[in-house]
Amino acid sequence: MIRKSKNFIHAAVLCMLLGFPLSAAAAGHMVVIDPGHGGSNMGVTLSRSVHEKDVTLAIARLVKKSLSGAKDIDIRLTRLDDKDVSTTDREKIVQRSNADLFISLHVNAGFGQNAEGYEIYSSSFTVPSAKESNSKEIVKNMEQTGYLNDSVRFGQIVQKNIRRVFPRKGRGLRNAPILVLESLTTPAVLLEIGFATNLEDKKLLKDEKIQKDVADALTESIQEYFSTGGAS
Ligand SMILES: [Zn+2]
Repeated sequence: MIRKSKNFIHAAVLCMLLGFPLSAAAAGHMVVIDPGHGGSNMGVTLSRSVHEKDVTLAIARLVKKSLSGAKDIDIRLTRLDDKDVSTTDREKIVQRSNADLFISLHVNAGFGQNAEGYEIYSSSFTVPSAKESNSKEIVKNMEQTGYLNDSVRFGQIVQKNIRRVFPRKGRGLRNAPILVLESLTTPAVLLEIGFATNLEDKKLLKDEKIQKDVADALTESIQEYFSTGGAS
């Protein structure tokens, strides 16, 4: 069950008192942040005691905390602590939250020890085959094209801001399907924060100061995204 936030309830009470329709007061931007992995799904290993699931949760929590006082932005996490959450449940949270933006956080691994730095993936969509093309499917794809543009725009903002944390380490903005979001129509970005298989990245990712810097870059990016147009 997804509980309605305290803010929502406060807004609802205020609306009843003032006689406003609820939708008018609840017109903030909903951002869902997805700390990758969790519980028994630990993700890549950074040290004996630190895994991808810990780093993604730490950063997501910091963003939520930074924006807790923001009037027009609500942050919801797909998990608040160290627990298993299925892809389906992550999708449901995005859908039920009516999210305006979705950010999934991960840590990369592989491609040899020299691969380093962040990667940003914006959500993609698949063109239906002739067989599957019914009007509903086509409309959904047209909607997704609009969301795709917003995803790319947000991805570019993140890229600009995160460069400060990882100078000269960007592997760029890429376009790829995001598994967790394939069935959704929400602007979405997946951020691979660095490589667990690179010694320097590994050190940076475990550093709480760097985690805070990444969170600050994301916080700023979210604010910038909505103040410069938001979802079109
Ligand atoms: Zn991951």
